[in-house]
Parts: sequence; C-alpha cells; structure tokens
Amino acid sequence: MDMQVSFLDRLFESGLLIETGVEGLYGRSGRFEDVIAAFERLIDRYGAADGAEAIRFPPGMNRAFFEKSGYMKSFPQLAGTVHSFCGCELDHVSLLKCMDEGNDWTAEQKATDIVLTPAACYPLYPTVAKRGNLPEAGGLYDLQSYCFRHEPSNDPARQQLFRMREYVRMGTQADVTEFRQTWMDRGVKMMAEVELPVEIDVANDPFFGRAGKMLANNQRDQNLKFELLIPITSVAKPTACMSFNYHQDAFGTKWGLNLADGAVAHTACVGFGLERIALALFHHHGLDTEAWPASVRAALWG
Ligand code: ATP
Ligand code: ZN
Ligand code: MG
Repeated sequence: MDMQVSFLDRLFESGLLIETGVEGLYGRSGRFEDVIAAFERLIDRYGAADGAEAIRFPPGMNRAFFEKSGYMKSFPQLAGTVHSFCGCELDHVSLLKCMDEGNDWTAEQKATDIVLTPAACYPLYPTVAKRGNLPEAGGLYDLQSYCFRHEPSNDPARQQLFRMREYVRMGTQADVTEFRQTWMDRGVKMMAEVELPVEIDVANDPFFGRAGKMLANNQRDQNLKFELLIPITSVAKPTACMSFNYHQDAFGTKWGLNLADGAVAHTACVGFGLERIALALFHHHGLDTEAWPASVRAALWG
C-alpha cells in the first residue's frame, strides 16, 4: 500500500516547520524565515512609491479597543484572550495544589488588559482616530503583526499564530476602492513573478452562527471581500494567501475616523498571509530553495 505522506509531515521532516505538540503552532527554520523575509522585500518594492507610514504593533492589543471593535459579535470562536494569575500567596498555594492534582488551574486566571491581535489592522484604527482628522490625502499605513486565531487544524496553511502583512488605506470611497484594485493587480503580478498559480474570487469572513450567515451573504453580494487563492494542500479548495477588504464607512463611523473636511472616512485593507505564501512557494517549487527556478530565486533574492 502506498502511504501518502502529507505536506505537513514533509515540512516537519525537512525541518522547515517544527512541531510543538499543538496543531497550528509551529517553529520555523532559518530557511523558512529567509523565504518570508525575501517575500516581504518584494512587497516593499511594490509598495515603495506609495509612501505608506510603517507602524509595528506587538501581537497583543488593548482589550478595550478589541471590545469596541465588535470582534466578539462576529468571530467569538476565533478570539484569544490573555489571562494571568492575579492572586495572593494563599491563592498561589491553591493554584499549585490544583495543578498538582491535575485539575483545571486556568479557571482562576484573570483577564488582563491585553487580547491577542486577530488581524494586523485592528490596533490601527483607534490609534489613527486619536490623532484627529486625517491629512488632506487621507492615510496609508504599512503593518505587520503576528495574529492569533483559534482554528486548530492539521492543514499547515491554517495556523493559530501566523504573520499578516497589511496595507490599510483611509480616504474617500474612490481613494480606498482604487487602492484595493491596485493591490489586487499587484498581487497577481507579484505571484506571477514567483511563478505561483492564482485565482481571485469574491469571499466572505467566517461570521459566527445563524445571524452570521446573513452577514456573510451581504459581504459577498456587495463584493466587500476578495481573496487571492493559491492551491497548497488542495486543488479543489485553494488557500487564501491575500485578502482585499473594503469596509465602506463602517470602521470610519465606529472609530471616528474623519477626512480633512470632516466627512467620515472609508477604509480598505489588503493582507498578505506570510506563512501561507511561503508554504505555497515550498509546495510549488519544492522544499529545497536552492533548487527553485532561477527566475523565482531572482525575484526573491535579486
Ligand atoms: P480563510 O478564508 O482561509 O479562513 P480568512 O479569509 O479568514 O482566511 P483574513 O481574515 O482575510 O483570512 O486574513 C488575511 C490573510 O491572513 C488571509 O488572506 C490569509 O493569507 C492569512 N490567514 C488567515 N487565517 C490564517 C491562518 N489561520 N493561518 C495562516 N494564515 C492565515
Ligand atoms: Zn485588515
Ligand atoms: Mg476567507
């Protein structure tokens, strides 16, 4: 019998991904990181002329901002909160006893002011809103963050902690829809440079529950989200490696983001799933980067 070795197994065997004992939580080798770094430089080249403001947030965000964002209404199943021991010495004794007995010691942990960032752009909106009205030309930001989503899976392309590179545009409806289209075109060009097969399709977010179905349908009907898909672990169901989201004035209204003339800003964001893009490259060109086509190596490493 021909046992099929999964892509994940091959990634472990080659050392590109390192098992931690938790699905979707992996260490990465230097070679894996080299690919991500090289692809980020390619992104930089495509975005360089736009003059985006670079901002890097840590992978945790202010819990108050997270609550206000409405994330728990839409995606409660994906959220990760940071809890901590906040007790006295007596509580500490109980904690250790509880752990010793193999009982659930986490129930007494208290919520901190930090939650794990669910998407790189979440901490940006309240930060920009605090600055006051946007400049005349609107805003353009370059972000990268580890993001957490509680979606354990044996699909190496569905991780629980992964990096998202994003550009976010704030401006008029025309500004932000043009920005989104520009990055869809660039995304296709970039993937052609590294010789990955892509398709672009309308998409929806995984809104929770029955009410979520309606939100998802609405998002699709209005063409608010597109994805750039590349086959990684399945040809029938290719993986979203980039997404292109138009929020209309929803975030502008929620966070009080205003244009120079006081009108509510429209916003859009484009996200690159950095691990997914690296995995797509390894899947299509092989696990040995030295053996990749010269043209692909040139696009990534010059
Ligand atoms: P999917 O449809 O596969 O669940 P998504 O539509 O939820 O992904 P977005 O919320 O648009 O993804 O996130 C932006 C980008 O982050 C995606 O295009 C993808 O490349 C990447 N991404 C999302 N979820 C994961 C994950 N669990 N592991 C790795 N990368 C991810
Ligand atoms: Zn975003
Ligand atoms: Mg999706």
